This record gives sequence, structure tokens and C-alpha cells, in this order.
Amino acid sequence: MYDPKSSKATEFIDHNEVLDTLEYARKNAKNVALIDSILAKARERTGLTHREAMVLLDCELEDKNEEIFSLARQIKQDFYGNRIVMFAPLYLSNHCVNGCLYCPYHQKNKHISRKKLTQEEIVREVTALQDMGHKRLALEAGEHPTMNPIEYILESIGTIYSIKHRNGAIRRVNVNIAATTVENYAKLREAGIGTYILFQETYHRKSYEQLHPTGPKHDYAWHTEAMDRAMTGGIDDVGLGVLFGLELYRYEFAALLMHAEHLEAAHGVGPHTISVPRIRAAEDIDPEQFANGISDDQFAKIVACVRISVPYTGMIVSTRESKECRERVLDLGISQISGGSRTSVGGYYEPEAEDDNSTQFDVNDNRSLDEVIGWLMELGHIPSFCTACYREGRTGDRFMALCKSGKILNCCHPNALMTLKEYLMDYASPHTLELGNALIENEIHHVPNLKIRALVAEHLTAIQHGDRDFRL
Ligand code: SF4
Ligand code: SF4
Repeated sequence: MYDPKSSKATEFIDHNEVLDTLEYARKNAKNVALIDSILAKARERTGLTHREAMVLLDCELEDKNEEIFSLARQIKQDFYGNRIVMFAPLYLSNHCVNGCLYCPYHQKNKHISRKKLTQEEIVREVTALQDMGHKRLALEAGEHPTMNPIEYILESIGTIYSIKHRNGAIRRVNVNIAATTVENYAKLREAGIGTYILFQETYHRKSYEQLHPTGPKHDYAWHTEAMDRAMTGGIDDVGLGVLFGLELYRYEFAALLMHAEHLEAAHGVGPHTISVPRIRAAEDIDPEQFANGISDDQFAKIVACVRISVPYTGMIVSTRESKECRERVLDLGISQISGGSRTSVGGYYEPEAEDDNSTQFDVNDNRSLDEVIGWLMELGHIPSFCTACYREGRTGDRFMALCKSGKILNCCHPNALMTLKEYLMDYASPHTLELGNALIENEIHHVPNLKIRALVAEHLTAIQHGDRDFRL
């Protein structure tokens, strides 16, 4: 029985409710009156239910689809402006006891070299990341009770935060590790993590169990209820995601939004971010073996419909996607991207060789961070290295309240300019430096509050003279 407030996975992601939603949407794919009423509600920018969102995703009317894309662009602009927050993944260990059929780190894969970073190696990796200009990381590790216990993850987080190399610093560590206990989530919170991210992979229980034949991850309920335990453990900001391509995308889309509704209903705060990864090739993994791949057009529609349905939730796209594809979805709702990513353990200090088979997936966008920053600015976006909210205690419902009132924008834009300036001073190539200085010069006039504008100008001058880490 569907119940968004329930603590049971099979009730807040009720299979029959998903199927009914898909049928309802299919029946109404050309229902102009209904689609218009949903679009009118979406224009109020308070979000949509999963059923309403599904009708928009299934909409088959060309002119209405144009309206959907145009509204997604508008909402992106209103809530996030032209800023794009930057991050990089950091792989700690590829030891894993699970049997995920789509991931080369699955336990039975004997072809890849297994690696786990020592604390000294983490220092080398993080120093290399700092030298690129990164300030925000997403930690990745396989699930292994003896190789990667929680103590190892906690020690690694402590090491990462302690490294101060030249002007570099990692100011926010987001964590993407396997579902764990309330006690362990409380420890992660104590360690000062930003967002806890866990991809559902697929919400379809039967497929989920087939795709995860062995290991603790086989337990659908344990995995699907992880965010509830994380929030019970005191983690305010959680990040959802599915791996598109494993199951039929319509099912995943409806269930993903049901999960977001559940978090709001049960904990009073929805997801901080939603990621939209698509399955990619890797050692031992051929994406063709999964029959549910989605086209770039479907992918763009998903991004647009998520943007409209949960306007306050950040959306992440990684280097799994090509430059062209990322360019297309940036305007439709993406607020965070990775750049210069390495998807193997130890890949920043020692760049992966051409034939390296230990990457978790093949990166599609291989450009350096500097190239990505330059590209974003050429497209009119402001690359941002801001990490201010979590450091100012703006998390969970406090963060959401500021988002919903629009007040957060008074912080995001100035912080983007100041952190971009730091990047330009410390890491940029001459071409990027030139582009960035021109962009800041222009953008500072768009800070509406004159007092804040003057303060930002003062801070920018201080950054030019060597000071760092200003934030609002
Ligand atoms: Fe292990 Fe995660 Fe890969 Fe599954 S997806 S095999 S849990 S590293
Ligand atoms: Fe994100 Fe907060 Fe910075 Fe805005 S001010 S970019 S919401 S961390």
C-alpha cells in the first residue's frame, strides 16, 4: 500500500503506485487540458507530484514539450542563475564485497588491480586535486567490512580536511559509500561531511535483486531505506540518484520522485541533490548488455522534468556525459558538474594509463578542469567553487527555507564570484584568467544589493592581494 510517510521501502516506493502512475501518464500523454494545468502549477515553482511530473515526461505534444523545456530553463535561471558548482570524485578504494553486475569493482572481477589508498597516498591525491583548484570532493569507496570499514573512511575524511597545500583546501567532503547503520551515519556527521550521496541504481525491486545477486547490497530494503537512517543519524543533506539504463527510465523517474516526496513527508526536508548518471562502459562491463539505455533526447527531457518537479534540489551531471551532452543539459537544470575527474583509485597523483582497466567507468569528458572552467565561461556560466552553506550551518530544512524564499541567491552569486577569483589567481591558465576577470568585472554589477556589492568588490581586491576564503 502506497504511503509516502512510511519507513518501509516497499510502501514509499510502492510498485503498484509506480505502475499506476505510468499508466496514468501514458493515458494522458496528449491530454492538453491536464498538461496545461500541470504546467500552470509548475510555473508557481512549488514543485509537482510524481504523477504530474510523469505526465510531463510522457507528453507527446511538440508545442507542450517546447513549453516544458522553456519552463525548465526559466526555473534553472530563477533559482540557480548562471552559476555551476564544481566538484571532483575521489576514489579511496575499489575493494568491494558486492556483486553489482554493472560495476567493474564487483567482487568476482579478477581482472582489475585492487587498490586502497593509504593516508599518505590520500595526501598525494588531495594535493594533486588542490593543485587543480578543487575545493569540493565526492568520496567514493567500495563496500568492504575489513578493507574499508567506517574507521578508514573517517580517518580519510580527517586527513583530507587537514591538508593545506599552498592556497589549496578541500572545504567540503561529500561522501558516497554503501548503505550503513544509523550509528555510522552519526559518525560521518561528526566528521563534518557535506552531503551523503547514495545512488539507488534502480528502484525496481526485482531488477534490483537480479542486478545485485550477492553481498549486503542485495537487500533492497536496506539500501532503499538508507537515506532515512542517514537523516536519523543527523545528516541533513542527502543526495539521490539512479543509474539510468538498468531499468526502464519511466519507472526510475516516477520512483525517484516518490523517494524525494517520501523524504519530505517523513523528515520534513527533500533531497539536497539528485544525480542523473547513465550507464557507461568499463572493464568487464558492456553497456549494451543492459537493454534500457536512453537517448540524449530522453536524457534531456528527464533533466528538464526533474528541474520543474523539484526546483529546490540541486542537479548533478558527471564526466560520464560528453561535452556536447553536458552543454545541452546545463541550461535545463544542472547546477553541479565534475571536471578533470579520474575514476580510478590513485588517478590524480598518477594519471591513468591508456590501458588502465581499474577505472569504475570510462570518462566521456576528458578535459582538464581548466578547460572545463574556460568552456563554462565561454558559454556564459559562472563556475563556482563555493562551499559556504555547509560551513555556515545552512543545511537541511534551514537551507531549504532559504532556497524556497529565494534568499539564498544573495549568497550564491557573490560566493561564486569570490571563489572563481581565487581559482583564477591560483590555478588558471592565461586564457582562462583573462576570460574570468572579464566575467567577474561584468557580473559584479548584477549583485543587486549595493552594500553586498561593495563588500564583494572589497573581498575581490583582497583576493587579488593574496587573501583567501571569503564567504557570505
Ligand atoms: Fe561495489 Fe559500488 Fe561497484 Fe557495487 S557499484 S560493485 S557496491 S563499488
Ligand atoms: Fe551552494 Fe550555498 Fe554556495 Fe549557494 S551559497 S552555491 S547554495 S554552497
